[in-house]
Amino acid sequence: MSNSTIMKTNYYCPRCHTTKISEYEDTFECTKCRDSNGFPLEFEKKNIGKIPDDEILALREQGSIIGAFEELKDADKRKKFSDSLLDDDLEA
Ligand SMILES: [Zn+2]
Repeated sequence: MSNSTIMKTNYYCPRCHTTKISEYEDTFECTKCRDSNGFPLEFEKKNIGKIPDDEILALREQGSIIGAFEELKDADKRKKFSDSLLDDDLEA
């Protein structure tokens, strides 16, 4: 009796490992985990079993990382802008 013969194809939450999920076409939502805004964590099916569980990001987390990068770019731009002003003052 091998465990591999009863291997499930069910998706599971990479955070709490429950198989109690709401399944959609390409994604599923954990019925237990919530993000900081109280929304269910939604994961892409294609990542399950391909990426280590602790590296799988919920869809909203992917979005927030992109958002953070956008902010960073803007902050960097602002800093360069203020630096250039500062340089002008120093050289004048
Ligand atoms: Zn979960």
